[in-house]
Amino acid sequence: MDATTRQRILDAVDAGFAAQLEFTADMVRFPSMRGHEAAMQQFMADQLTARGYSVDHWKIDVGDIKDMRGFAPVEFVDYAEAFNVVGTLTPREVKGRSLIINGHIDVVPPCDETRWTTPPFEPRIEGGRMYGRGAGDMKSGLAAGIYAIEALKSAGFRPAAPVYLQSVVEEECTGNGALACIQRGYKADGALVPEPFGASIMRAEVGLIWACIDIEGDPQHASAAFKNVGANALEKAIHIWPFMKRLEAEWNARKVDHPVYKDHPHPIRVNLGKLSGGDWVSSVPAKARMELRIGVLEGEDLAKIRQEIADRLAEACAADPYLAEHPAKLTFHGFMADGYVLQPGSDIEAAMGTAHQAVFGEPVTSTISSAVTDARFFGLYQDTPSLVYGATCGLPHGIDEYVELDSLQQVTRVYALFIAEWCGLEAI
Ligand SMILES: [Zn+2]
Repeated sequence: MDATTRQRILDAVDAGFAAQLEFTADMVRFPSMRGHEAAMQQFMADQLTARGYSVDHWKIDVGDIKDMRGFAPVEFVDYAEAFNVVGTLTPREVKGRSLIINGHIDVVPPCDETRWTTPPFEPRIEGGRMYGRGAGDMKSGLAAGIYAIEALKSAGFRPAAPVYLQSVVEEECTGNGALACIQRGYKADGALVPEPFGASIMRAEVGLIWACIDIEGDPQHASAAFKNVGANALEKAIHIWPFMKRLEAEWNARKVDHPVYKDHPHPIRVNLGKLSGGDWVSSVPAKARMELRIGVLEGEDLAKIRQEIADRLAEACAADPYLAEHPAKLTFHGFMADGYVLQPGSDIEAAMGTAHQAVFGEPVTSTISSAVTDARFFGLYQDTPSLVYGATCGLPHGIDEYVELDSLQQVTRVYALFIAEWCGLEAI
């Protein structure tokens, strides 16, 4: 790419940035939490259609994907609103390498709406940041991918290879949205997942399992409990938790043998994400449910890890006289994710490195994550090098989540040059 073309593209990104932010804000206004994604995906389908993509908009059918590698079990939820949208741009003549740009539009709940400075689904720009649930993770990333291509168009070009813009659901709970794109037949020479982990190439991500533990108590009148009659399901959950939490330290200790994670301070986290039970203050809770997010070191066999979780729960139950007789029930009800490493030396990393250097004036670095993204699907199950690189997000999944606008603009510039480099350009 000559210097004039490069400058034209960068100027086009800057000129379109205000519109990009408006579009991002429109996305953030949708409270697209799990089970409430359909309206947002209709919006995405309309937006991509208006921008000249040929759009595939479909409802995910668990039956289509349940036997595929990478499938995560779906329990306790229905997929009535689980739609995917893929917009395809096709050149007149294919000269470059095709690209998937994959982002998720599902967001996690706001934690506690009352503690946000302004409501989570009313985006606010202040002090160089956009605040809102999903502003960082990762609606701004998906919007940046779209606006990088819009910038190429305003500069008079389009990608000289097919681009598949994937707007998916289920990233925050299973990954089945990205998996459904694979089932649908989408494949490319490379994939970009614009998650907001910063302008650095994510070298590795951990695996992840969601586990649900159901405990049945013995509901008797609370005043009888002192006679050792009945069993309080919530108290039994509290008994079980330290056994499960111990897995975190044990599995982190295994990192010493890992080629990538040995340098990470604390890759594995076991999080008690939800604890529920009881229906009346003066009754002994009849049931309790604990839901755990369990990190898995990259390279571990998920079947083996599931067995370790089951064994640990059995140990906890055996240590309590009531639970020994009435063991808790274990269900895997979401994430069943393998870890993923992007091996150094890929062409896609080189292309991103060139684009990063042109914008930031320094070589791109890499990072190792204790989180999970949809990048694994392309890398592990399609043999497609898959790259995570994005803007800087603050407080993802927290209160007052935001994206740094300066980083977002720089990263959009990088995306535009990267797409030009990877796909090549053809004049419109
Ligand atoms: Zn995300």
